[in-house]
Amino acid sequence: MPQSVSTTTCRVSPCGRAAIGRSAREYGELVPARRPALVERMRPFTSTIFAEITALATRTGAINLGQGFPDTDGPAAILDAAGAAIHGGLNQYPPGPGMPVLREAIAQHQRRFYGLDVDPDTEVLVTAGATEAIAATILALCEPGDEVITFDPVYDSYAASIALAGAVKRTVTLRWPDFGLDEADLRAAFTARTRVVLVNTPHNPTGKVFDRAELELIGSLALDHDAVVVTDEVYEHQVYDDAVHVPVATLTGLADQTVTVSSAGKTFSVTGWKVGWLHGPAELVAAARAVKQFLTFVSAGPLQPAVATGLGLGDDFYAGLASGLQAKRDLLVDGLRAAGFAVSVPRGTYFVVADAARLGFADGVELCQRLPELVGVAAVPVSVFYDDPKAAPSLVRFAFCKREEVLHDAVERLSRLSSLV
Ligand code: PMP
Ligand code: GLN
Repeated sequence: MPQSVSTTTCRVSPCGRAAIGRSAREYGELVPARRPALVERMRPFTSTIFAEITALATRTGAINLGQGFPDTDGPAAILDAAGAAIHGGLNQYPPGPGMPVLREAIAQHQRRFYGLDVDPDTEVLVTAGATEAIAATILALCEPGDEVITFDPVYDSYAASIALAGAVKRTVTLRWPDFGLDEADLRAAFTARTRVVLVNTPHNPTGKVFDRAELELIGSLALDHDAVVVTDEVYEHQVYDDAVHVPVATLTGLADQTVTVSSAGKTFSVTGWKVGWLHGPAELVAAARAVKQFLTFVSAGPLQPAVATGLGLGDDFYAGLASGLQAKRDLLVDGLRAAGFAVSVPRGTYFVVADAARLGFADGVELCQRLPELVGVAAVPVSVFYDDPKAAPSLVRFAFCKREEVLHDAVERLSRLSSLV
């Protein structure tokens, strides 16, 4: 099986079965076999682990620490701005690249936080979430057979976007507990067909924040191979302790070879808005725009000025976001340890990966299927994000972007786990 159709999702319940065609024999020899409705390259992707676990949590009434979404709204200023835009008549198609006010705010944000010089007219594209930004970029840049390097465990939409493009996913494996980057593995992943290196820092699901040396190594190999770095930085403002988020585009020589992706969903706690963006050199942005205009044409009009308001919020908002989440991280990390899990303390994102082996659960998939019924908490198995599920059989991901009382309740419930096994 080519790597482009790797089974990154759907291991909790087998999927795609309904799509398998019946044979001519079942109809009598005169009727030809029916073709499955879904194209082959998408058959491994018929459901996502996040939807499956959220459905399980809803069915069982469990506290949902599986899918990563906050249980509080974002800042009032942006909610008010969205309401004002809707009531103020901004309800028709915005311009294809995005509303000027948002493109300008994105450019200013990149200058303010990272010192990057971005032209809002030619170097920014507003998208339907980071998901569309990544899909449009991969579809725009990759010919069938081109290779895309990813870092396993990998966010699920990457494999599907690569498969849609007919490209081939090549994987560098990050391993528990520190999820360090192995230089030899990285070098071995590059070939003459490498077109894109798809970085994600801070990294979901591990919470790893790639350090400057790691990113410089990735960047220099990308330059050597004339590959484009596509960097998903949606958790750029969720970084803890002394960790520093280093945008790939700030590294020497890489601005001209990098597409940077981010999204309002994480920073402003509005995951349902699906407003994202990308920026990079004009030629790469134009390529992504060509694809985006036939995926969604444009993205949610009245939400764009509201996201611009958010990007302009003061430093206290951004500092408060990180410090508030760091306290929640500590609460959940302590609770998981007390419950008997081994924990890899995340330095970014709002996820923590824990190992359930010490609790007697060798199979994280099975644990996540049973956890709601055992203690009333839902989590996501990490093995589904690896091409090789054996790389992390007993790892489980918990989200901590929840109210403190919810996390306390979850921790209390998890403390009962050891007595049940
Ligand atoms: N990339 C990563 C690493 C994510 O965790 C997510 C989930 N929000 C996305 C992309 C998708 O972002 P959006 O909802 O803006 O499409
Ligand atoms: N990014 C979210 C997570 O990792 C989920 C988004 C989704 O459900 N596709 O949990």
